[in-house]
Amino acid sequence: MNTPVLSIQNLAKNYGNIRALDGISYDIPKGCVFGILGPNGSGKTTTLGIILNVLNQTNGSFLWFGKPSDANTRKQIGSLLETPNFYHYLSAVDNLKITQAISHRGSKEDIERVLEIVNLSQRKNSKFKTYSLGMKQRLAIAAALLGNPQVLVFDEPTNGLDPVGIAEIRELIKKLANDGKTIIMASHLLDEVEKVCTHVAIMKKGALLAAGPVDEVLVNEDIVEVSSDNLEQLSTILKDYSGVQQIKQENNKLQVYFKMGTSNLRDINQFCFNNGVILNLLSIKRKSLEAKFFELTNN
Ligand code: ATP
Repeated sequence: MNTPVLSIQNLAKNYGNIRALDGISYDIPKGCVFGILGPNGSGKTTTLGIILNVLNQTNGSFLWFGKPSDANTRKQIGSLLETPNFYHYLSAVDNLKITQAISHRGSKEDIERVLEIVNLSQRKNSKFKTYSLGMKQRLAIAAALLGNPQVLVFDEPTNGLDPVGIAEIRELIKKLANDGKTIIMASHLLDEVEKVCTHVAIMKKGALLAAGPVDEVLVNEDIVEVSSDNLEQLSTILKDYSGVQQIKQENNKLQVYFKMGTSNLRDINQFCFNNGVILNLLSIKRKSLEAKFFELTNN
């Protein structure tokens, strides 16, 4: 198996009495866009702070490229935790020269390269203070790209931007992923993770609720509601029906969960009839991703 880009093992963090991370573990595969999704205060920024060596963990460990983090591995990681303090009266080029002098990342030519990637080449000599919020954020991403790191870590990269700015950053993230970068980003927006990420870890109050490919964790579901005179018999029969993921009883009916688009009411009716059960209720409810996320984070 390929070595994960990042492997987090039982990571925990206390701030005094506050348990900000409660022993979380997951792997981040190479080449994915990995979203850390959760409501405010769920521990996303704390996780990013620890893996970037800005914060110390209370317990647990993490490996970058299968090894403990050192100066060499850190060169392979570009990050944007909060908008950096660029100089307002300097141009993008001059600001990046300063960033480069401090971080020792990349060559002089690298500045032109990263400005091209974030689509700021045409405005590279304008003063930072003349930039829109979206352009400022793209310059911050350009700074993270200096030295051409394999991995990029972004904390809420679209926060505070207008819809156009949000769309530009999302496109940029997709472009970077297409170029083979591994991207790790925190977000509290389900919609954003769904649109941009290939993988997700869902967090709530420092705990990990689920992790894996987005289409497995945030799967859309069909719920088919059925009822008959004998619910127990009906439930037993339906367990053998192809595509059924789970069956829950609610009052005098059953809720049968299918992956989105795989249920067929006519076939279900026929199947039950063939097995000697007459249905007195058969209806379908679609469950949105929002409902699924709400269910995960609100119990
Ligand atoms: P947000 O989206 O609001 O930034 P988050 O998911 O990134 O939230 P964290 O910032 O990691 O969450 O916070 C996790 C928990 O730790 C919260 O309860 C927060 O109040 C607490 N916390 C974070 N930093 C500190 C600190 N320096 N001192 C004390 N408590 C902290």
